[in-house]
Amino acid sequence: MLELNKLTARYPEQELCFSLQAPAGAITALIGPSGAGKSTLLSMLAGFSKITSGDLRFDGRDLLPLAPAQRPITTLFQDNNLFWHMTVYQNIAIGLSPSLRLSPQQDAEVMTAARQLGIESLLARKPATLSGGQQQRVGLARCLARRQPVLLLDEPFSALDPALRFELLELLRQQTDRLGLTVLLVTHHPDEAARIADGLAFVYNGTIWESGNGELLSAPRTPELSAYLGG
Ligand code: ADP
Ligand code: MG
Repeated sequence: MLELNKLTARYPEQELCFSLQAPAGAITALIGPSGAGKSTLLSMLAGFSKITSGDLRFDGRDLLPLAPAQRPITTLFQDNNLFWHMTVYQNIAIGLSPSLRLSPQQDAEVMTAARQLGIESLLARKPATLSGGQQQRVGLARCLARRQPVLLLDEPFSALDPALRFELLELLRQQTDRLGLTVLLVTHHPDEAARIADGLAFVYNGTIWESGNGELLSAPRTPELSAYLGG
């Protein structure tokens, strides 16, 4: 369980403050308008944004004193995840070892992640020769190979067409269940996310404005969510 208790980042023009509980084995979808604070929230969790006050715990352990690399967290962004001069194998491997010198066990982790995402046959290729969907599989494989229990995804599949996007969401669902991951997924496609997510949180004006399950989309409680959904 990932727990945020009034986790706050204060900027001159805005204060962001989040309280949220994200259980293991569950996907929590973060929706909300541009500029609401979704990406900043992920960056606060990953340790890349300064925290002013509040509490962040994973399974009871205080994460705030930990540097980004020490946190039990992996992040996948929409783009710039892949190194174009490296092979797919190396792109996954670099998640485990920046020097690309892998132990036999790390090599096995790379192969396992590639197999789970159905990209075993692409390991020798360069990302530029892959489709968009295949590239995002590589990015996801790198994250999974790191075997961190918390996975943060910032609109990773937004550039894909709907069928591919849903395929990747299904894969994410399978891996979340299999590995018991705690997943936060920022998405611009609330209805698609609701199909695979366990919970939804509507981020608005630097905070979690309302949260719940998929019913939030058919019965928003606030005019802000209603407006965001175009209702
Ligand atoms: P979203 O991902 O929901 O579109 P962002 O997280 O990118 O929104 O931005 C939310 C707001 O957070 C920004 O409008 C800004 O006010 C504030 N913010 C985030 N990071 C910084 C920063 N480094 N300096 C100043 N303000 C910031
Ligand atoms: Mg963003």
